[in-house]
Amino acid sequence: MLSPCPPAAQRQIVSIVEQGLGVDLAHMKCQLATRKGMASVMKNHGWSRNQASGVVGFHHDDTVTVLDDSWWTFLHEAIHAAGVNADRISTVVAEGLTEAIAQSLCGKKGGCSSAEHRDTYPQETGWVKETLLPAVGMSALDLGRAIIRSKNPPVTVAELIASRRPVRNMRKLVGQLRPQNKTIPSFNIVARPPRHVGAVGVLYLVVGAVLWASSRRVTP
Ligand SMILES: [Zn+2]
Repeated sequence: MLSPCPPAAQRQIVSIVEQGLGVDLAHMKCQLATRKGMASVMKNHGWSRNQASGVVGFHHDDTVTVLDDSWWTFLHEAIHAAGVNADRISTVVAEGLTEAIAQSLCGKKGGCSSAEHRDTYPQETGWVKETLLPAVGMSALDLGRAIIRSKNPPVTVAELIASRRPVRNMRKLVGQLRPQNKTIPSFNIVARPPRHVGAVGVLYLVVGAVLWASSRRVTP
């Protein structure tokens, strides 16, 4: 049910992520799983078999688990393992920024084949690229590095926003950026249940409203 990841392909993606984000991923373990294997790995970390449906990649502690027919999600999971993940910052920022970083890393290498990367989380990625990155005035890679280095990513991101525009309520902004639940690990999923899509929609609209409201308070 579980087998080792392909060593050469793993080394290639790990070195792209290490160079792009300035990290050392030597501690990271990678395993391939059948659908049944993925369900039991997720069950060991508190998820039900139903929740494992549609999941192609799963990151917990130092281990990345990739569905055996979905190697393309390894890049996404390796970026989570580097420190951009929903254990550290809100799911919307974590997933959207992970995808934005994946797109820049692939772009730098002259594009990725679909065997190496496929886009996921389009809503979150759009919000990160169109709203969050302009708000902090940084590239996806630079914001990723800042989050990875930070001991408190929600405060770091809120301070980056506040350094460029007045923020009326810092506590509220930090609260919006907080990880949703420390015990919930990051995973990459192809088809999300509708309820989750709704929750994401509400969250990114709220964070968007905080950014939008603060941007209108710039005094001439
Ligand atoms: Zn993810």
